[in-house]
Amino acid sequence: GRASAAARRCVGLIEGLMAEGRATATLSSLLTSGRSATKTAVAPLTRRTTPCGATRPRGTSSRPRFAPTRPVLGHRHLSTTTTSSSASASSMSETHKTSTHFCDACGSETSVLVPEGDNRPRRVCQNCGKVHYVNPKVVVGCLVEHTCEETGARQVLLCRRAIDPCRGLWTLPAGFQECGESTSEGAARETREEANAEVSIAAPYAHLDIPAISQTYVIFRGTFKHASASRSGSSLHSPGQETLETKLFDLEKVPHEEIAFSSVRVVLGKYAEDVRRGRYSFHHGVIEKEAGVAASSPRFKLAQYTGLPTEHKL
Ligand SMILES: [Zn+2]
Repeated sequence: GRASAAARRCVGLIEGLMAEGRATATLSSLLTSGRSATKTAVAPLTRRTTPCGATRPRGTSSRPRFAPTRPVLGHRHLSTTTTSSSASASSMSETHKTSTHFCDACGSETSVLVPEGDNRPRRVCQNCGKVHYVNPKVVVGCLVEHTCEETGARQVLLCRRAIDPCRGLWTLPAGFQECGESTSEGAARETREEANAEVSIAAPYAHLDIPAISQTYVIFRGTFKHASASRSGSSLHSPGQETLETKLFDLEKVPHEEIAFSSVRVVLGKYAEDVRRGRYSFHHGVIEKEAGVAASSPRFKLAQYTGLPTEHKL
């Protein structure tokens, strides 16, 4: 509430620059040099970033050009710490992304600032000082194993997505972990929701990090709860609301080129290796890629990979 219109304009400009990934130096200089920053020349913007993240051509904005008359800072809780040079540009830009620019405690406007003792920009309430941390999300999922009653072939359950992203492509049943549930409960719930399948969770199977999009995948192995010799595999699953089709694939028939997510592609590849060797491992690794790179693209790689043999028998 107390910030002047000029300061608000300044904050807006910084937010726009941050969204464009080019503002760390500008932000730091503004934060550290205080009043002298008001005389800093700022290169003309060739595009503006709207609050929703879309860019618009120069000249279509009604917002005034950058013309600060006083420093951005005025909040006693905030230090003038410069941003860490070790953090990548993408992770830096993630740390203050929220769906709202207003404080979830008091409703006042927030600013993007580096809090005292911190090393990266966060959304900080201009009124009550609450720091709004944004942390990675956990995706939980299940690799449902099955043995075909007729052929004895080992199979896995895949879902063809009915929604974007990656509509029409195949994935393991998986989704964001909900508050109040464990990762294994979440994996079973996602399998129920996306494939109408009740599963018993057998063991953790893979843990993959994707820092570029701030996600961690936790995948469990599971089996159908009600599988029996008298019941065909196809009666054990059916498409949920977000799924076009569910299908048990023999391992050698898994459509690796039509998989929705790089993480799922890695898990299915590791699973095929395990089955070939006749031994499970627990798989950990970091998927390195740019945000938006498709799983069918060669432009992602699995780094820092560790496969730990487990006691479980195939
Ligand atoms: Zn607040």
